[in-house]
Amino acid sequence: MTQSGRIPANLASVRERIERAARRAGRRPEEVTLVGVSKTFPAECIREAHAAGVRHFGENRVQEWESKREHVADLGATWHLIGHLQSNKAARAARWFHSIDSVDDLAVARKLDRAASEASGACARKRLRLLIEVRLAEEVAKSGVREAELAALGEGIVTLPHLDLRGLMCLPPFFEYPERARPYFRRLCELRDLLEKRLGRGLPVLSMGMSHDFEAAIEEGATEVRVGTALFGMRGG
Ligand SMILES: *Cc1c(COP(=O)(O)O)cnc(C)c1O
Repeated sequence: MTQSGRIPANLASVRERIERAARRAGRRPEEVTLVGVSKTFPAECIREAHAAGVRHFGENRVQEWESKREHVADLGATWHLIGHLQSNKAARAARWFHSIDSVDDLAVARKLDRAASEASGACARKRLRLLIEVRLAEEVAKSGVREAELAALGEGIVTLPHLDLRGLMCLPPFFEYPERARPYFRRLCELRDLLEKRLGRGLPVLSMGMSHDFEAAIEEGATEVRVGTALFGMRGG
């Protein structure tokens, strides 16, 4: 159920959790960007969260976002695609999102590059921001590049002139105890450090941590946390 009216209170509580986790890790809370994951929720909820101060939103399907975006197109916000992107939707994704956080394939990246070079649509810009999604566990085998193929993908992406590779994203398996996700967060941070060396450029963004485990992610270096349930309420209830 949509917790309409509850979003400001939910946001205050998420912000407090972010702040405490950051302080525990000796980090500043401002280093952590909150991405409100609005998938399945109506545009009205995005509006409510925006009014409460959220400025980044994540959607996981291009089509769903196409049906919602016109209702929130007046809001100043950064729209992220966080779900798996099929190559036949790449051009539309480049048109309607400011950041593609879930790139795991060079063919898709090439299509995004081409679409970004044509630079039209709501999110036209010189270079399209993107993150590489890394698959750290086979059990959530839906998307993400395997560790062994990460370097090659990164090397391919940085040759594409209209893309701006900023960092890595991951989606660990769901654990009841968030502590169990910590090794995955730590691993993503290590992989980022290795890829930075390999590419000779900074990759400042680590998108990791969801409603139930973002504190551990922040302690391990997350700079973006993707929070749905804790902000908007339960999906599909
Ligand atoms: C749905 C989703 C989230 C948010 O999950 P919550 O547990 O509701 O916070 C984060 N990241 C991705 C990739 C998602 O698909």
